[in-house]
Order: sequence, then C-alpha cells, then structure tokens
Amino acid sequence: MIEHDVLIIGGGLTGSRAALAIAQNYPDQSVGLISKVHPIRSHSVAAQGGIAASLRNVGDDDWLTHAFDTVKGSDYLADQNAVQVLTQSAPEVIIDLEHLGVLFSRSEDGRIAQRAFGGHTNSRACYAADKTGHAILHELVMNVRRLGCKIYHEWYVLDLIYEDGANGKEVKGVVAYSLETSEIEVFCAKSVLCATGGYGRVFNTTSNDLASTGDGLCLTANIGLPLQDMEFVQFHPTGLYPAGVLISEAVRGEGAYLLNDLGDRFMANYPISKNRMELSPRDITSRNIAHEIMAGRGINGGNYVYLDVRHLGREKILSRIPFAREEGLRLAGVDCIDQPLPVRPTAHYSMGGIPTNIDCQVIGSDSQAIARFFAAGECACLSVHGANRLGANSLLECVVFGKRAGEKIGAYVSDRPMPKINPDHYLAAAKAKLKALLSKQGNSRIADIRQQLQDTMTEHCGIFRDDQRLKDGLAKLQTIRDRYDHDLLIDDRSDLFNMELMQAIELGNLFTVGEIIMTSALSRQESRGAHSREDYPQRDDLNCLKHTLGYLESGKVRTSDRPVDMSLQSIDRDRFTPQERKY
Ligand SMILES: Cc1cc2nc3c(=O)[nH]c(=O)nc-3n(C[C@H](O)[C@H](O)[C@H](O)COP(=O)(O)OP(=O)(O)OC[C@H]3O[C@@H](n4cnc5c(N)ncnc54)[C@H](O)[C@@H]3O)c2cc1C
Repeated sequence: MIEHDVLIIGGGLTGSRAALAIAQNYPDQSVGLISKVHPIRSHSVAAQGGIAASLRNVGDDDWLTHAFDTVKGSDYLADQNAVQVLTQSAPEVIIDLEHLGVLFSRSEDGRIAQRAFGGHTNSRACYAADKTGHAILHELVMNVRRLGCKIYHEWYVLDLIYEDGANGKEVKGVVAYSLETSEIEVFCAKSVLCATGGYGRVFNTTSNDLASTGDGLCLTANIGLPLQDMEFVQFHPTGLYPAGVLISEAVRGEGAYLLNDLGDRFMANYPISKNRMELSPRDITSRNIAHEIMAGRGINGGNYVYLDVRHLGREKILSRIPFAREEGLRLAGVDCIDQPLPVRPTAHYSMGGIPTNIDCQVIGSDSQAIARFFAAGECACLSVHGANRLGANSLLECVVFGKRAGEKIGAYVSDRPMPKINPDHYLAAAKAKLKALLSKQGNSRIADIRQQLQDTMTEHCGIFRDDQRLKDGLAKLQTIRDRYDHDLLIDDRSDLFNMELMQAIELGNLFTVGEIIMTSALSRQESRGAHSREDYPQRDDLNCLKHTLGYLESGKVRTSDRPVDMSLQSIDRDRFTPQERKY
C-alpha cells in the first residue's frame, strides 16, 4: 500500500495548480498525483482562447461586472457565492501565473493583452496567442516536479475507497493500476482531490481529447454520491466540420463572422443575439447555427455554416490565431486566409459535475461535506457556470479553485491522522474486476458499442431535447449497455499498456455518465442555458430555479434537487435578480 498526505487524481490545470499550492504552503506534506496520461497531455493543454480576469488592461472593468456577466451567462443558475470567489480572485491568480513564468501575449504598452469573448461585457480574456492552456500547463507541471510532488503518470484510478471512519463514512484513498505493467495498488491518503476533467467522449462529435471520459464522475456516482446539474452540456458553436475539433472562440473574439448559405451574418436575424452578434454566449450561438442548418441554410444545404476571417487579413490571422489556421489546413484542407472555415456545434464542456461547496469539499444530497473528499475543475460543480459557461471562465475556475483546493486541503490534513485501510479486500476486488473484463469473449467490439452509445446521446440528448426523445434514448442506452455487459469482446490479454482493457473500463464509465445526463435532462421541465426542451420552451424560475442532483440507487438513476445561492443580490439586487437574457 502506498501512503501520501494528499492524493490528487488528475494532472491537468486543476490538479497541478492544487499540487503546487500544497507544495508552496505546506512543504512537509507528501503529495501524490495520479494521472492516466502524462500530466502535460491532459486536456487542459488543448485550451486555446484565453482565461478571464478583470485586469482592466483594455478599458474599464471590475470583478462585479465579471460576476454579473457570469451569472447572466449561467441563466441565473450559478451559485453566486462561488461566482464571487471566482471573479474576485481572478486578477491575482493571473499575476501569480505570470510570476511563475507563463508567457502571456502582450499589448503595445507591454501589459498583458486581453481580448473579447462571448457574453463578457469587456475585453478580459488574457491569452498566449491561441495556445493558452499549453503555456499555463507547462509552467505548472514544471513547478510541481521542481517542488518534489510524486507523479504517478499512466496510472488509472479504478475505484474510490469510501468506508466507515472515525466520524462516519469517509474517502480514505483509491485503487489504481499501472497502465505500463497492470500492477494494482491501493493508495491511502488523509485526503483525496478529484480533478479528472470532463466527459466530452459521451457524444459522437466533440472537441475533447480521448481521455475525457468522465471517470471521476463515475467513481463518485459509484459510491452513491450525487452528481449535480448533469443536463447542462455545453455545445461549442464552432467545431471544425466534420472532425469536431475546436476552432477557438478567440477567432470570433478577433472579429470573425458566422455566415449561412445565403452569405448572411445570420446572428442578426435572431432578436436574442442581434446586438452582440457572433459574441453572444455559446448556448445561444449554437442554437442559432442548429436552426440555420435545420432550415436548410447550411452551406449547400449541408450540416455546417461558415466561419469567415478573411477580412482580418493575413498578418492578424498569423499573429493572433495561428493555431486555428493550422487546424483548418491540417484537418479540413482549408486555409482561412483565403477561404471560410466549415463549422458546426460540437460537445465541449460539462457545466455539471461533483457538487462541492466553495472550499471544494464534496457535498452529499443533504449539502453536508463528505469527510476527506474534495473536487475541483471541470469534474466539479461549484457551481460557477450554472446552465451555461462563458468562454475563458473554465481555465479561470481551474486555477482559482485548484489553488484554493490545495490551500484548503493542506490546512485540512495538517491535524488529521492517516486513515486505516485493509488493502487486501480492495486488491482482490480490483484483480477480479480486471480479470472478468479480460475474459470477455462475446461478439461486440468496444469501438462499435461506444459508437452506438455516442450516436444515441447525440441524437436523443443533443442541443434540442424533448420528453419522448429522452425516454427513447434512455431505453436505447439500456439495450446497448446490455451488449456491453453480456456480449463484449476483448482480444488483448497482455499486461503491458493494454489499451483495450482501459477503453473497456472507460466505456463502462461513459454509460453511467450518459444515463445520469439523460435522466437529469428528463427531470428538468424547462429551457435554461444549454438545456433546451422543445416541449418546455420557457425558463421557469418559479419551479425550476434549483440544482438537479442525479445519483445511483440500486443501479437505477434517481433525481432530487437543492437550492441555488443568490447571495450577490444583497450587493446589487438590480443586476443579480433573474431577468430575461438578451444580448
Ligand atoms: C479544445 C479545448 C479548448 C478549450 N479552450 C478553453 C479556453 O480557451 N478557455 C477556457 O477557459 N477553457 C477552455 N477549455 C476548457 C478547459 O480547457 C477545461 O475545462 C479545463 O482545462 C479542464 O481542466 P481540468 O484540470 O479540470 O481537467 P483536464 O485538463 O481534462 O485533466 C484531467 C486529468 O485527469 C486525469 N484522469 C482522468 N481520469 C482519470 C483516471 N481514471 N485515473 C487517473 N487519472 C485520470 C487525466 O489524466 C488528466 O490528467 C477548452 C477545452 C477544450 C476541449
């Protein structure tokens, strides 16, 4: 058994920022960071456009306006106490990153440059060209290594250890196996932080990397804890057609146009977006694109529209959005200097996740903290994004709450003893689980079942939803899951980097996450933010201004709810009381 004071699952921006905070503030504590990919290959490295903060380097700005934009963008579902922490801390975490060595792009006068982003009133996204995640993650991971955290890369966490402790049930560690050798280990810790990122791979078209399979969400659901607001899936408006990879919002931030087959800038034709046009929030922009396509105004009547940057000119394209140009060339054979890029919405971000309080402690359905268990970043639901996240607010969440989680956990474990675990039982269970998977000799391949699952999620729980489509989708998921349970075929029996085995486990997680998303979507009978119900087209503040909780009970998904924090109303009632969203 391996012991650490703190165990962090995930080496993306959140996990590494948390590890760094502990190493800086509590140098005597031992930190183990487990990641199924090398930390610098975490999805955070792919983040492009920017990280938001009211630095005021371009025009006037302040944290309360940033908070207002975030709450309005969230369709009033965000917890306002968490939004306050996010936006108030933003300038200071950017300066921290700068001092760590992150190379932000500069304006003419030498200050950190800031660009416009959808739904933000002011230009407040700080960036490193269109490779912002890359610039930040490399510095963080380098510093985490320098300060001596132990990194277990290419180790896969299979289960959380959740059992009785001194004061009721607590999370005491994890069971993980090495992808390199298949060796299984029990890790025991005074506290565990889950920072496992999103679940984009539940859908067939996504901007997310292969590793975004919602593992941490499934680990949490498997121990009977709820997941919050899972119906809110962000579809980013501009996935490159047909691959689905992201063309950053930075491209619209720099002034790109969205055009339909008639050559119209169609955002002007929708009352909700006629002022902010291409810089409206993502839920609205994605729905407008989907409407254009459904009305036959996609390019040549097809499934995509154009994103046009030609008017920006070669020099600006090459200096501000070089990566977007490279992607167009590499994946669609289109040079955006001379031709518009084909785009359509792509599954991008998970607003929902593991519910936590503002100190990143995971909370149960009674809103009480679960002992020794923390979560932060995309896998968590604080909730700062509510029903729709604004661009550039996720990297910010990872850094603000990664740092905060590290500080809080460091203090939390300093006077706590190491919990007691009997590892044998967990080792035996994990061995049996892997062996059972390896012996699967049915007729259905992983790729085939996964495709069916992803197609079902996209068809039945995509941008537009309704009662019948969701119910049919859930029934289909059950049939496909039966094939997974009883007819799976695994060829590879090797111990070394058995990727088929890992993919089989990930596929099981995708089912659990998919079922919770669909059931939560069925239970929310209104349209809010990214959740758009054709049978309930209006937002219903009277009955639905609350967070959905979805959890497993005897293998079935059940739902309940909890209230939204509205505390910013006491600072500015005019702005923070729910009202109609217009841009
Ligand atoms: C293409 C793209 C561009 C984006 N651009 C922006 C942007 O410009 N601005 C912005 O604010 N946001 C952006 N986002 C969103 C943002 O990048 C992510 O929300 C954020 O980086 C998530 O960070 P994270 O640390 O929570 O998780 P991730 O970076 O996804 O890291 C997850 C970690 O968990 C580990 N892990 C997962 N499961 C297991 C397991 N079972 N066992 C062991 N380890 C595990 C992985 O190895 C990985 O290290 C973008 C997202 C995408 C996909």
